[in-house]
Amino acid sequence: MTYGAAPAPFAFDNSYTQLPEHFYARTAPTPVSAPRLLALNAELCGELGLSFETLSLDAAALFSGNVLPEGAASVAQAYAGHQFGNFVPQLGDGRAILLGEVLDAGGRRRDIQLKGAGPTPFSRRGDGRAALGPVVREYLLSEAMHALGIPSTRSLAAVATGERVYREEALPGAVLTRVAASHIRVGTFEYFAAQEDRAGVEALARHVMARHYPEALLSERPCLALLEGVCVRQAALVARWMQVGFIHGVMNTDNMAVSGETIDYGPCAFLDAYDPEKVFSAIDRGGRYAFGNQSRVAQWNLARLAETLLPLLDADQAKAVESATAAIHRVPEVFQKEWLSGMRRKIGLEAGEPEDLALIEGLLEAMRQGEADFTLTFRRLCSAAQDSAGAADAAVRELFSAPGLYDSWAALWRSRLAREDVAPELRAERMRLVNPALIPRNHRVEEAIAAAREGDLVPFERLHRALSRPFVEAPEFAEYALAPRPEERVLRTFCGT
Ligand code: AMP
Ligand code: MG
Repeated sequence: MTYGAAPAPFAFDNSYTQLPEHFYARTAPTPVSAPRLLALNAELCGELGLSFETLSLDAAALFSGNVLPEGAASVAQAYAGHQFGNFVPQLGDGRAILLGEVLDAGGRRRDIQLKGAGPTPFSRRGDGRAALGPVVREYLLSEAMHALGIPSTRSLAAVATGERVYREEALPGAVLTRVAASHIRVGTFEYFAAQEDRAGVEALARHVMARHYPEALLSERPCLALLEGVCVRQAALVARWMQVGFIHGVMNTDNMAVSGETIDYGPCAFLDAYDPEKVFSAIDRGGRYAFGNQSRVAQWNLARLAETLLPLLDADQAKAVESATAAIHRVPEVFQKEWLSGMRRKIGLEAGEPEDLALIEGLLEAMRQGEADFTLTFRRLCSAAQDSAGAADAAVRELFSAPGLYDSWAALWRSRLAREDVAPELRAERMRLVNPALIPRNHRVEEAIAAAREGDLVPFERLHRALSRPFVEAPEFAEYALAPRPEERVLRTFCGT
């Protein structure tokens, strides 16, 4: 395979490689034998100001890493991380290569990264590759999250490599092209802090402020403003996850982007029946990253970020600790506020009353006991809010294993709704904008992956199309709205690395 320079499809404008040399390792993708394009995201090409037509000409070569586009940085980024609570001082991009940064059509800086592009100096014993299943999974899930309005890395392309990767079995390999506001993680800060590289932490903090938190640069205490900014975005992000039933699955500090985007889709999943203790990931044996633990874990991770910034917060150590502690202690409050306002909208409330929290918790408790499907319950409540008698109510009730669970709650809900002067049709319409009809249901994702592994991309493409408009009930996609039958239910997910 020749390794040439492609015409310049990207107008790279690389800033990360202007940081000190020890922030990254220069490394090139390893060519693959038979690259075949699986997906190219036309909408995202437009957003990035790339020509879909030009890119499609040579997409397989470009997005497999077989040709390196002109001006590419081509580096693996260094980072550390707390994995399941244990600190690992050096992780880094073991199978990802940052091609470079572009300014998108809106002037925002975006990273273009190849994931699964071959070994890097950070690969340790790994092969630097990704299997096709997890690539298809990340493509579907990240694009679905974006369509749901949740900050997320995006997927620009997926290419099958024509080579096998060896996990528990031999699997087809693939490369994902990921687009992110940046790939800087809490673990990136930890990498320099663990080496007591104060200048490194400071340079990183400056870069992150300029890139993601420019308002912090104007603050009297820029690094404190940075910490507070990351805390607010992360708390809001996790609140958004929990409003759609998303479980990240591996919230290690190396999988938390300081930009506030959802990143590193591994064994993530969406709730079917509501259960705050739900864990899908096969590697999460203690339930550290269970659905209902996510806001606490985010706070724990943010405390690790705060520790790395301590020397920059104040010359007086006690004062630095005090400011950092105050910022971290505010995380639950920010989370709760975001979560509550979103949940209010989900049940059709506009103004806030102090009892709303109890009302929302009452619904969730009834759903837990009644094993009600998370997405369907909220979606069907939209119609029930419009039509209090009859069919719409029955459609919600039937989701609960014991109908009384819903009925007792619905009586309280209706008396609360009556205190707001909103036309029922309008209320239902607004509810339908926040309660998706379609989420990437685990069994549908698995079905699309299984077909893609056999070379059939039709289920993947169809599911992807359906998920691009999650708030619309399109009759042609009705099957994707359904909860899994018991035999279809996915019980475990794997990160597949
Ligand atoms: P992840 O579980 O994907 O968040 O990755 C955790 C760490 O393991 C990161 O440093 C990855 O770069 C590295 N890693 C995961 N899979 C591989 C692989 N197949 N080859 C090399 N490094 C890997
Ligand atoms: Mg990761």
